[in-house]
Amino acid sequence: MEITGGCLCKAVRFRITAPPIAMRLCWCRVCQYFASGNATVNVVFPSDSITIEGEPRDYRSVAESGNIMHRRFCPECGTHLFSAAESRPHLIIVRNGALDDTALVQPSGTIWTRQAPEWAWIDETLPRHEGQPPPIA
Ligand SMILES: [Zn+2]
Ligand SMILES: [Zn+2]
Repeated sequence: MEITGGCLCKAVRFRITAPPIAMRLCWCRVCQYFASGNATVNVVFPSDSITIEGEPRDYRSVAESGNIMHRRFCPECGTHLFSAAESRPHLIIVRNGALDDTALVQPSGTIWTRQAPEWAWIDETLPRHEGQPPPIA
């Protein structure tokens, strides 16, 4: 299996050779900055299954949980591509909008709903977590 994707300007491209583990929508406040005020849409893959071409820039920050987070984006066009926690190096989170096929995966849940604005549309048929859910793998 091969899943492909990249940024808007194509300076960064990637290939993934494993099936997705999950797709989650995240309403945390940080994600709202990246997703123009909405939730980010995040597909989780094993980190050893991805090959990246190009040089995404890495923005490092410390999450409320104390986790050190790395969020990578294209320095040319600004497309958000990846997120990863230092505490979970075996997982990489790919922004769904960066996949060539954005309909590849169905969402499996919504997280950080307590930070969502009042107007947010949150799918009631999916599992919801008010904050950070327990680890998936
Ligand atoms: Zn780009
Ligand atoms: Zn988030």
